[in-house]
Amino acid sequence: MLIVQKFGGSSVADAGRIRNVAAIIAESYLEGHEMVVVLSAQGDTTDDLLEKAAELNQAPSKRELDMLLATGEQQSIALMAMALEAMGLPVVSLTGWQAGVRTNTDYSAARINRVNTERLRRELDKKRIVLVAGFQGVNKFDDYTTLGRGGSDTTAVALAAALHADKCQIFTDVQGVYTADPRKVPGAKKLDEITYDEMLELASMGAQVLMNRSVQLAKRYGVELEVLSSLVRAPGTKVKEVSRSMEEMKITGIAKDDNVARVTVMQVADRPGSAFRVLNAVARAGINVDMIIQANGRDGTNDMSFVVAQADAEAAEKVLRQRQPAIGFADISVDKDIAKVSVVGAGMMSSVGIASLVFEALNDEHINIQMINTSEVKISCVIDAASADRAVAAIHRKFFEA
Ligand code: ASP
Ligand code: MG
Repeated sequence: MLIVQKFGGSSVADAGRIRNVAAIIAESYLEGHEMVVVLSAQGDTTDDLLEKAAELNQAPSKRELDMLLATGEQQSIALMAMALEAMGLPVVSLTGWQAGVRTNTDYSAARINRVNTERLRRELDKKRIVLVAGFQGVNKFDDYTTLGRGGSDTTAVALAAALHADKCQIFTDVQGVYTADPRKVPGAKKLDEITYDEMLELASMGAQVLMNRSVQLAKRYGVELEVLSSLVRAPGTKVKEVSRSMEEMKITGIAKDDNVARVTVMQVADRPGSAFRVLNAVARAGINVDMIIQANGRDGTNDMSFVVAQADAEAAEKVLRQRQPAIGFADISVDKDIAKVSVVGAGMMSSVGIASLVFEALNDEHINIQMINTSEVKISCVIDAASADRAVAAIHRKFFEA
């Protein structure tokens, strides 16, 4: 079998952890498998590098930032190679460049265009364990690029797809994907399986197990993923197209995202093009929005609210104020004291009453809902930030602990 394994920063944080991971890799290799292993930078290395950059320049060019950040993963692969060498195993470490990971030119948020697998294949044919630096690639100018925070997951899935791997295992510091954050909800259960769509919703809604782009890529190329712990030997969660449990379970999980802010544009003229002008201004500033609602005033105006990432709130307000005369509205308010709680499940489509159960759970706790948004596989509510953990626990009790 050809197996791609990925280990996150906490799994390789120090020499002890590296030895632990080396043992996991060695075990699969000695079973006779071809091994490609993607590593993240150790522990908080990427954050530390960003701090170092900021000491010298508050707004460094993204090219130089990528040049710096790419070194974090390079340390991990070299150190892991040394650990495996010390065990007497044949191993080679490759940077993203050497591994043939070609990206577009979007520094700091690059997308993988293709993976040239010749070198990888050659090393595998020599029966070597191949270690690849995650999170990085090289663009058409032969410059290093990075894929965005958490990007090593995406590297792993891209390599698994390009090499037609039989397995893609994502090792992390939790034992899999849970029905809710197990650190906050003691009754949270580990899921054996989850569909790509459910995982995608959970990943985008604040569950931090997998980078959502890696799940998109896995879905597109049909790469089955397994999320499992590098510290506890136990089966993890499989992410795949059809999950057995789908019919039985109406909802799969609950996620909280408190890194959000609500922007309300007040008294927008009630005429064709208003919503377009508001959202176009925001979109052109490169800001993603979610949960757009429009409330009808009785005076020929509407209030429009939407949710943005907290880091984008000021920029959204600024660009809208700049265009206030062209758009036509009275004022803007930004509220960062909110959280988005999302209930996700592919079984939702076929059963009525899920939404009402969610609202009942919030009502039981006297939590006010500010915004609601639903899709075929998700219900999201915006509530005040202070109630978020209580909301997740209450919804979890309704669905999983009744
Ligand atoms: N080291 C990078 C980060 O911290 C990439 C990764 O961990 O996947 O974002
Ligand atoms: Mg990391």
